[in-house]
Amino acid sequence: MLRAMRAPDPFDLVILGGGPAGAAAATTAARLGLRTLVIDKARFPRDKLCGGLFTGRARGEYRRIFGRDLSPELFEERRAISFFLGPQPMGRMEGVPPMYLTRRFDLDAHLLEMAGAAGAEMRTGCRVAQIDLAANRLRLEDGTEARYRVLIGADGVTSSVARALFGRAFDPDTIGFALEKEMPPEPDPVIARTVRVDFGAADWGYGWSFPKRASTTVGVGGLQRLNPDMKARMHAYAALLDQGDAEGMKGHFLPFGDYRRRPGRGNVLLAGDAAGFVDPITGEGIAHALGSGRLAAEAAARAIREGRADEAAPLYRAATLDIRVALSTARILRPIVFSERMAPLFTRAFGGSTRVKQAYMRMLAGETDYPAVLWLVARRLPRAILRHLLLRRA
Ligand SMILES: Cc1cc2nc3c(=O)[nH]c(=O)nc-3n(C[C@H](O)[C@H](O)[C@H](O)COP(=O)(O)OP(=O)(O)OC[C@H]3O[C@@H](n4cnc5c(N)ncnc54)[C@H](O)[C@@H]3O)c2cc1C
Repeated sequence: MLRAMRAPDPFDLVILGGGPAGAAAATTAARLGLRTLVIDKARFPRDKLCGGLFTGRARGEYRRIFGRDLSPELFEERRAISFFLGPQPMGRMEGVPPMYLTRRFDLDAHLLEMAGAAGAEMRTGCRVAQIDLAANRLRLEDGTEARYRVLIGADGVTSSVARALFGRAFDPDTIGFALEKEMPPEPDPVIARTVRVDFGAADWGYGWSFPKRASTTVGVGGLQRLNPDMKARMHAYAALLDQGDAEGMKGHFLPFGDYRRRPGRGNVLLAGDAAGFVDPITGEGIAHALGSGRLAAEAAARAIREGRADEAAPLYRAATLDIRVALSTARILRPIVFSERMAPLFTRAFGGSTRVKQAYMRMLAGETDYPAVLWLVARRLPRAILRHLLLRRA
């Protein structure tokens, strides 16, 4: 007798996207005992346009999720940073909390490998053709299907899951855009161990030069709406650094201040860039991608365990409160850093203050948080405003 074909049992968790957010979610979920599937259109190792600056905050998440520390083969430690505003130096600091430089080509493959070792199943090199939220099912381009109890969209800034949930992945008025090129390694030994940040290289954005063993990652990025001439800015920045020309640069969107207040709905959650969880001043996204991926998997596990998969989103929203507070505080600080009218004040409050710069570096290291930095800046601002006004009158 012919037996009726039964659809395979659903996965507890399907994760679309195997970047840092997806790998963190998959590792956490597999360790919590969820039957987990990761789907990514790319085959790994694959590249992702990124400066590869891995902060102490990201390192904390990495240790917590993967249960090990950073290996020197993948991560180069840097303890010096210099800031510029146009051609004007704003200070160089030695002995700051460690930052790490990595290559996403290697990092993302390493993270996904750990997710596989934890027990997550992988479907890489496979695009999703259709997301059927009503039926809890994804149809893949190869004709197969994947059913889920909970779905995590960790599919980056152009997230198809965000589009299926909310109609679009991001708001073109608030999105960031960045250009980058790998330049030759830096020959000067002092510059070669110094992370460089240039405010003013883009409007409401900045330029960066991250010297690594094999290359120097040079880029400019900022709000796309205010930088229609980003390519010209990248050429100008490359000329300023005198590191090589910017021909062959590549571009990528990045969320820049417009994150999802409700990063999901029902049994569908958004993590990392798909939720807009990127720092709106520094453009740092890896730490929040790891953190939100972990939190999304934990919320999914709890909702499934309690038999209420459809309520994973409110659990996840509550769990991401700290991330959203950090991002909204950074948005309050952002005009002080980026607006042209505040530039003289910013030069005084930031450039003139080692304490503020140190607090900022400690925040990136995960040793303090954005509200503490905001408080410090707010305490200095009135004095800076006064001095600025007095100098203008003198
Ligand atoms: C130029 C630039 C420089 C940056 N520099 C830094 C930096 O130095 N430090 C830092 O912390 N952050 C940086 N960021 C931000 C950082 O790159 C992101 O925040 C981070 O990659 C987010 O991780 P994610 O896992 O959410 O998404 P991603 O890393 O984008 O991963 C998404 C994954 O989803 C897959 N995918 C997408 N669509 C589909 C689909 N339809 N089907 C299947 N798979 C799909 C992709 O192939 C990809 O593997 C930078 C960003 C840019 C653009």
